[in-house]
Amino acid sequence: MPINLVLIGPPGVGKGTQAGLLTERLGLVHLASGDVFRGEIAAGTDLGRVASGYIERGELVPDDVTIGMMESRFTTLEAMTSGFVLDGFPRTVAQAVALDARLEALGTVVARVVSLEAPDDVVVARLSGRRTCLNCGAVFHIETMPPKQEGVCDDCGSKLVTRTDDKEETIRQRLAVFHTQTQPVLDYYAETGKLFRVDGRGTIEEVYRTAIGGLRV
Ligand code: AMP
Repeated sequence: MPINLVLIGPPGVGKGTQAGLLTERLGLVHLASGDVFRGEIAAGTDLGRVASGYIERGELVPDDVTIGMMESRFTTLEAMTSGFVLDGFPRTVAQAVALDARLEALGTVVARVVSLEAPDDVVVARLSGRRTCLNCGAVFHIETMPPKQEGVCDDCGSKLVTRTDDKEETIRQRLAVFHTQTQPVLDYYAETGKLFRVDGRGTIEEVYRTAIGGLRV
């Protein structure tokens, strides 16, 4: 059976970086809800217009919109046959319940939920130096992971930007949303025995090895 993983953690803890490694090394399909929303905004779609206000304010996009959007992606033939890593979804208990119900109907399950953890101050420091490629989603950090050429994506050559929601005030709001709305998702998964807690402050390789430890891959 393909392996399906979920990565949960506060903004800036390294979900995207770990999802990138899981995709590259295990051949999983990477599904990042934030990247999907940003792609829809860049393409000027109706969905993008609905999502943009919430994202700018650091709030969650409503569950019905988010669930519908992600369901159409994790149920594709490619995701169902290769296995997937969900990055940034589910972020509410309602989303987690909808995910489990849909997978059960399809005869598959989430194998493991990796909770990447770090104190708020650490993620604020990481996010304020973060630079993102709006074209391919690659992420850099001006101090810890600088691109080869300043302001240019190593992977696709596009311009790197500071995401509008990576301003300190919005970061604090996103962290508050994480604590109130997403932390209950960890309790939900803890009851299923699938939750795996990982200290997100190690090196990228250390975090990766701990996150996949014991998985039959
Ligand atoms: P991210 O790139 O994962 O930090 O997501 C950026 C923003 O997109 C979040 O602050 C939310 O506004 C929105 N978003 C991403 N994923 C979700 C989700 N699962 N539920 C609701 N809103 C989301």
